[in-house]
Amino acid sequence: MTEDRGTNEAELIVTDSRTTQVGEFDVRRALPTRGRRTVGPWCFIDHMGPATFSPDKSFDIAPHPHLGLQTVTWLFDGEILHRDSLGSEQLIRPGQMNLMTSGEGIAHSEENPGVTSGALHGVQLWVALPSATRHGPSAFEHHESLPKFDMPNAEATVLVGTVGNAVSRARHDSEAVGVELKLKRGQHVVPLDRTFEYAMVVTSGDVGLDDTHVTPGHLAYLGRGRDEVRLTTSEDAVAMLLGGVPFDETIMMWWNFVARTQDEISAAYESWAKGDERFGRVASTLARIEVGPPPWFRSNR
Ligand code: MN
Repeated sequence: MTEDRGTNEAELIVTDSRTTQVGEFDVRRALPTRGRRTVGPWCFIDHMGPATFSPDKSFDIAPHPHLGLQTVTWLFDGEILHRDSLGSEQLIRPGQMNLMTSGEGIAHSEENPGVTSGALHGVQLWVALPSATRHGPSAFEHHESLPKFDMPNAEATVLVGTVGNAVSRARHDSEAVGVELKLKRGQHVVPLDRTFEYAMVVTSGDVGLDDTHVTPGHLAYLGRGRDEVRLTTSEDAVAMLLGGVPFDETIMMWWNFVARTQDEISAAYESWAKGDERFGRVASTLARIEVGPPPWFRSNR
């Protein structure tokens, strides 16, 4: 796979997201794509819904492990109950953020919070942890409210990092930013850090960027070297703008694990398959998710 690590210049490359299944739901996976694994430290962008769940179609994601990353859960509609092996149990609603840091291993579930039907629309994002912290302890943060960057015709909520004078208190182990842009009809200017690379995913509506229209189901990669980005909307739209200093480590991703080598992933797979203490226990009534071995795996090593 050839990796496009980007140049030092502003560019605009729009790629198609891939439709895949997470549980019962279709999601649009904007990252990773063929040719691009990361944007800053962001290594996974799933746009889920909008969808309606029901007794026949649950959005429950049973207990599963993570390694070497942070998960960011952000909703536009609906509610999800997070449980993890640290003992966290946290309902999340639109405008709030769940941020889970896996370190060397954590397990969690994301569940329907006791109602039998309703709407669900959101994003799940992963941040690759740098080697300085990826072997550290696991942690969980819930952010009830997040700072907003003042824009005349939009609401800009800073999940991670800094935009202007709006500084998120969320943990980030690399230089990074994550912003939700709720745009009204009109023209918008978002200040950027020229040392960061950026990408934008539109989750509803249509956002004009240069001469391009960006709509749900795509990733717009903006490159580096921009002091601002100008966006145009002819109706209400919502977009996630994600960026950071280009990640300087080559990551390997398999299933829910982010690592550097096959051996690290094999060891994590084996721990989960055996149910040893590494990933702990989640206080969930759902049966944990099992997965087959990675393609290179040999047992009785
Ligand atoms: Mn997960």
